[in-house]
Amino acid sequence: MNPVLKDKIAIVTGATRGIGKAIAEHLAEMGATIIGTATSSAGVQAIEENFKEKKIKGSAYVLNLSDPEAIPVFYETVKKAVGIPLILINNAGITRDNLFLRMKSEEWDAVINTNLNGVYHLTRACIREMVRAQWGRIVSLSSIVGVAGAAGQANYAAAKAGLIGFSKALAQEVASRNITVNVIAPGYIETDMTNQLPEAVRHGIIDKIPMGRCGSPEEVAFAAGCLVMPQATYITGQTLHVNGGLYMA
Ligand code: NDP
Repeated sequence: MNPVLKDKIAIVTGATRGIGKAIAEHLAEMGATIIGTATSSAGVQAIEENFKEKKIKGSAYVLNLSDPEAIPVFYETVKKAVGIPLILINNAGITRDNLFLRMKSEEWDAVINTNLNGVYHLTRACIREMVRAQWGRIVSLSSIVGVAGAAGQANYAAAKAGLIGFSKALAQEVASRNITVNVIAPGYIETDMTNQLPEAVRHGIIDKIPMGRCGSPEEVAFAAGCLVMPQATYITGQTLHVNGGLYMA
């Protein structure tokens, strides 16, 4: 693959597994130096082993997105050790599903703090240098649930819909600086997150997908790769749906 990102540093949050791991590998193939994050030192070790095995240029750091104080510290550490990241992939996310009538405030707060507030804090840490460089690419992982809703996921739907509004507003503020801000809304992708679903629910979902199958993390990574390409200069404030036809916006 043509290393079009060879002078770029990309932060990929939640690079231990699933979609984040696939995005890290794909952007590395495109030439980027990757900063992968995990919530534990075991996760950091797993990312570094994967990087070593696949000859990926990059390193891994512990980052807990629900800890606002840790985020600027992480950013400054990366800046000193590796350089200025001009690509940010806000991938990490969690679910704490429950019917709304039973949803505890801890379940609401955990999802909003990690999936939405964490994106605010990390984007805020990164944006100043992007403005200074007059170039940047920000991609956040929303979800089909953020546009269509899903019973039992009021917290997750609120956070994922929030990312879409956030990205549209920020896209307008920084467009003149050649910084694009976009969203990917995956449908059902084979990862640890969806493996938690009961088998009957999985079958019910697959029956409704026009492509008749779940997606792979690599199919989402391809979309992320397109949005961060240097040539993707005129795509901003958009939500790219990667869902096998399950929801056509
Ligand atoms: P996984 O559950 O497989 O992986 C989640 C990643 O996020 C892990 O790397 C995890 O790190 C990290 N993470 C979890 N909590 C935190 C935290 N507090 N701070 C920082 N990092 C954290 O997720 P997927 O790969 O399935 O999903 C990736 C993104 O795509 C998410 O935002 C998800 O909402 C979205 N998405 C996924 C869909 C799917 O079908 N899988 C569908 C639609 C959207 P660690 O390993 O250290 O715990």
